[in-house]
Amino acid sequence: MSKVRVRFAPSPTGPLHLGGARTALYDYLFAKNKGGDFVLRIEDTDTTRYVEGAEEYIMEAMEWFGIVPDESPKHGGPYGPYRQSERRDIYDRYTEQILKTDYAYIAFDTPEELDAIRAEYEAKGEVFSYDNKTRSALRNSISLSEAEVQELLESKTPFVVRFKMPFDRVLNLEDIIRGKFSVNTNTLDDKVLVKNDGMPTYHFANIIDDHEMKISHIIRGEEWLPSMGLHVLLYEAMGWEAPEFAHLSLILKPEGKGKLSKRDGDKFGFPVFPLDFKDPQTGVVSNGYREQGYLPEAFANFLALLGWSPADDKEILSLDDMAKEFDLNKVHKAGARFSKEKAEWFNHQYLQQKSNDELVSLLKASVPELSNHDEDKLNRIVQLMKERATFPKDIFEMGKFFFVAPTSYDEKALKKAWNEDTPAVLTEFADKISILEKFDAENIKESLHQLAESKGLGMGKVMMPLRLTLVGELKGPDVPDIIEILGKEESTNRILNAVKNIN
Ligand code: GLU
Repeated sequence: MSKVRVRFAPSPTGPLHLGGARTALYDYLFAKNKGGDFVLRIEDTDTTRYVEGAEEYIMEAMEWFGIVPDESPKHGGPYGPYRQSERRDIYDRYTEQILKTDYAYIAFDTPEELDAIRAEYEAKGEVFSYDNKTRSALRNSISLSEAEVQELLESKTPFVVRFKMPFDRVLNLEDIIRGKFSVNTNTLDDKVLVKNDGMPTYHFANIIDDHEMKISHIIRGEEWLPSMGLHVLLYEAMGWEAPEFAHLSLILKPEGKGKLSKRDGDKFGFPVFPLDFKDPQTGVVSNGYREQGYLPEAFANFLALLGWSPADDKEILSLDDMAKEFDLNKVHKAGARFSKEKAEWFNHQYLQQKSNDELVSLLKASVPELSNHDEDKLNRIVQLMKERATFPKDIFEMGKFFFVAPTSYDEKALKKAWNEDTPAVLTEFADKISILEKFDAENIKESLHQLAESKGLGMGKVMMPLRLTLVGELKGPDVPDIIEILGKEESTNRILNAVKNIN
C-alpha cells in the first residue's frame, strides 16, 4: 500500500471554527496513526471570500494545539506550492486535459443570462439546474455548432468550463464513517470547474491537488458529502484512482440540535475559535480558547473526543496517545453535542498535571500585574489554590487576598463569627505568632491550638474570625497556610487592622 497522506484544506475565509479545528485534528491523528504525512493546503482560489490574516490564523491555531503539518505553505515540501493561488500553471494543464475528454465542455452563458433563466423557473415555482436535462438549450459547446464556438472564442467571449454530468448513472460510493450509499447522477448538476478568469473552482482544484499531492485519504466535514459523487467522477474523468473518503459529522449546539455557531458561544459564554480573532473589516474581536486560559493539551483532548470514542472510554489522552489509538471506525456517525462543562473539566484536569513552576508562568502570562511578583510566594499560592482552579487566572481571582489586604469584611460572616471577646483573643494570637521562630503552617497551627485550649474555645471559634481578618470573608484554603504565605508582618498587620476597624 502506498504511504498514507492526509491533507487539511481550509479556505482562508475567516478564523478556524471548532468544527474546522476538529477536522484538522482528525486529519493529523489519522496520518500519525498510520505513520503517514499530514499536509496543510490553503484553498484560496475564491478571491472574493479571502480574509486577510485568516491563513496566518489557521497556521498559528494549529501550531498552538500541537498539530504541526509535515508540509504546508510555511514548511514547504516536495509537492508544493501549498497555496492554490500559486498553482495556476498546474491547473491550466489539467483544464486542457479534461477538455479533451467527454467529461467537460465550455459554456458562454453570462451571469445575467443565467439569472434571467433562474427567475423564469422561479416564476413557475421550479428550480433551475444547469444539468444533463437543460444544457442542450443553453449556450455551450454542446448546443452550439463548432463554427459558432470557434467564433465566440476568437472574439474573446468569456467562458467557463463545466463538468458534463453523465446521464442516469448510479454511483456506488463508500465512506469510511458512513458506509456504502448510492447517488444517481441525474440529481447532480454540471458544476463549473474553471471560472471565466481561468481560475479553477474548489471542486476542480481540490481533486487536482489531492492527486498531485498523492493524498490517500480525504477526511473532511460532512458539508462536503454531497460533492463526493462529483469528485469521484472527476477522478474517473482524469483517469486517476480516487482516494478514500471519510466525512465527519457536525459539532452540535449544547442543547443538541443544529450546528454549533458563534452565536451559541456568545450566548453560553464559550469560544468557538481556538484563538482570539480580530475581524480586519469590522475590528470586532471573537474570543479564543487560548486567551480564555485553556491549555492546548486540554483543547486538543476535548476536541478529539467530540465525535470519537477511544477504547475503554479513556478520557485523558495526550496527542501521542490519541494518535496511537485513533480509528476512523470509532468516529461517530451522529453529531457530537458540545459541552462547555466538559471542556472546562478537561482544562481542570490538565491544570492539575502542571508543575507549580509551570503554573506560575501561566499565571503570570494571564495576569500581567503579577509579572514582578515574588516567584517563591507565587509558587506556594499556586500549590494551595490549583485544586480549585479551572483556568490559571482563577488562581489569582480566588486567591486575591494573597495580594491585597481586605478593606471590608463580609457582614453576615461577622455576625456569625465575631463577638466582644474576639479582639482580645486575636490580638493575643497576633502577639503569639509574631515571636514564632519557625514561621510555618505547622507551628502556626500549634499556636492556634494552644490559644484555643487556654481560652476554653473550640478551634472554629478562633479560626473563623481569624479567617475574616485575613481574607475578608469565610473562604479560602486552611488558615495556617494562608498565614504562612502572607508572612509574619502582613498577617499580624491584617489581624490588628481588623481588630481596630471591626466593632
Ligand atoms: N476548502 C474546503 C473547505 O474550506 C476544503 C474541503 C475539502 O476538504 O475537500 O472546507
